[in-house]
Amino acid sequence: MILEVVSVIVFFNEKIETMSRGDLDSLIEERIRYTVKYASENSPFYKKWFKEHGINPSDVRTHEDLRELPIISGKTIREYQPPESTDFQFRSVDWREVFTLHETSGTSGTPKAFFLTWQDWERYAEKYARSFVSQGFGPGDRVVVCASYGMNIGANTMTLAAREIGITIIPIGKCTFPSRVIKNYKPTGIVGSVFKLLALARQMKNENILPQESSIRRLVVGGESFADESRAYLAEMWGCQVYNTYGSTEGTMCGECTDLGGLHVPEDLVHLDIYDPALKNFVRDGDCGRIVLTTLLPVGGKSGTLLLNYDTEDTTAVITRKRCACGRTHMKIMNPQRESETFWVAETPFNRVDVERGVFQRENMEYLTGEYEAFLYGGDDEGETILRVSVECLDRDKCDRKAVEENFLRTFFRYKPLLEQVHAEGMFKIIFNFAGLRDLELYRIKGRPKRLVDRR
Ligand SMILES: [Zn+2]
Repeated sequence: MILEVVSVIVFFNEKIETMSRGDLDSLIEERIRYTVKYASENSPFYKKWFKEHGINPSDVRTHEDLRELPIISGKTIREYQPPESTDFQFRSVDWREVFTLHETSGTSGTPKAFFLTWQDWERYAEKYARSFVSQGFGPGDRVVVCASYGMNIGANTMTLAAREIGITIIPIGKCTFPSRVIKNYKPTGIVGSVFKLLALARQMKNENILPQESSIRRLVVGGESFADESRAYLAEMWGCQVYNTYGSTEGTMCGECTDLGGLHVPEDLVHLDIYDPALKNFVRDGDCGRIVLTTLLPVGGKSGTLLLNYDTEDTTAVITRKRCACGRTHMKIMNPQRESETFWVAETPFNRVDVERGVFQRENMEYLTGEYEAFLYGGDDEGETILRVSVECLDRDKCDRKAVEENFLRTFFRYKPLLEQVHAEGMFKIIFNFAGLRDLELYRIKGRPKRLVDRR
């Protein structure tokens, strides 16, 4: 009897992904040295930056040396590109070697320009390829990409990643697509955002197609942070596993493996460090802080835009640098959150994700779609703050409002004793608004919805 041999790819780049910590650290340091040298010779910005800070680039040799360098931010990039500057001073190759150029969405001001060489494309694609393979995708999979193409890097480089693995891509570019795509092409995976995939599941149910019984085996979510509860509900709706990715124009592309215990950072291609702006210092593993990123180039490589010690304004913590159950040795980080979605009330920080967690309590989902928006207002009394939470009801009349409120408050105040105390004292009020279908403000605003807005 001849046994059928089924080839399953376990790793995209086994040698690199399973490298011992010692070898990986040596590789990283070799690339730090090369990248710093490349920056000082090819990036007009860094040429001046090293001189102005009195740093000799050849002295930057290790991970620790990198931590001594000043930190730059998105603001720095904007200051060194038109209209603030006559040229794009972060561009670090000749125009003839720029394959594509991209812009960040520009939600916080002028879009930042990014220049990519073909080598940059290959490295971005490799990061996605590793992530797809670690999630169990392989030859024969058909994946609908709902992330937008255009000036974004993610969807484009994901598509290139698929070519390396033998995945078929259905490049729809948005999450509102007719169900015939599911019925006719029988995709095995979808890349999209949590809320778009929830809306798609509702749309399919309305058309009498049960998402759980569809061809979809895996979902990949990214583009925004989410609560574990909303992920769990999405997984339940689709009857399959949901994997997280953290990608950005700057080139992070971290992905969750089948172990689901955090996102692997492709440490040989991007160096992530965690920084506490209040302490003005880097933190230990396990402590929360801002993600500071450094591009890593292989020796001899060229990059169109590279960044050293770049503050992403996203927050996370390193979970582990030990070998994962999946076999990978690259470190794992927590699901990053956006610093711009963190707000302070009564000396207590809370993130949009904390609000989302309160909404997505499982019992609430008998009454809610999961869509929500929240606003912070100053109250009439001095020092009073109001949080108004609007939730979309499946049926406004049948919604058990008391249960939804109680579930929300119980979850929201967990680990926030000070906030709970000012709530009890009446200085922090939470008002609930139970909206009908499509009745939230965010439906009337174009672009990525802002789900927690500070109107104080
Ligand atoms: Zn893993």
